[in-house]
Amino acid sequence: MPASAVGASLSVESGQSGGRASGRMALRTDLLSGTHAPIAIALIIYGCEATPGVGREVAFGVGCGMTLFGLSYLLVHDGLVHERLPMQFLLRWRYFRRLRGAHLHHHRFHGVPYGLFLGPEELSAAKATRRADPGVTEAA
Ligand SMILES: [Zn+2]
Repeated sequence: MPASAVGASLSVESGQSGGRASGRMALRTDLLSGTHAPIAIALIIYGCEATPGVGREVAFGVGCGMTLFGLSYLLVHDGLVHERLPMQFLLRWRYFRRLRGAHLHHHRFHGVPYGLFLGPEELSAAKATRRADPGVTEAA
């Protein structure tokens, strides 16, 4: 089963149990996983079963990439940031501490950063822009 499918089932469970994220945010994550999983599964199956050709190879690669992204998102977002899985060992690395802080900032203020893995850079850029032009808001 692709990781995005695993992430979807875990998010549904955590969303119903009232995890740290609000119900609305958990629902958005569920919808994201729920839409990615069937597409990734279909692409991998097509990549395995279709007649040989470039389309088949690309479909398989894209399906695998979506699955790796889903697994990474599950482990970092649900596991590290929202503490639904034992991934806190990642906090040994500065990048993951900054990522966690940036994502919690996103939940607290419902604004920048919108990305997870590039969140620290996005937040730094937004702060630099705000310093340069104090009239710019995060939600813009
Ligand atoms: Zn989150």
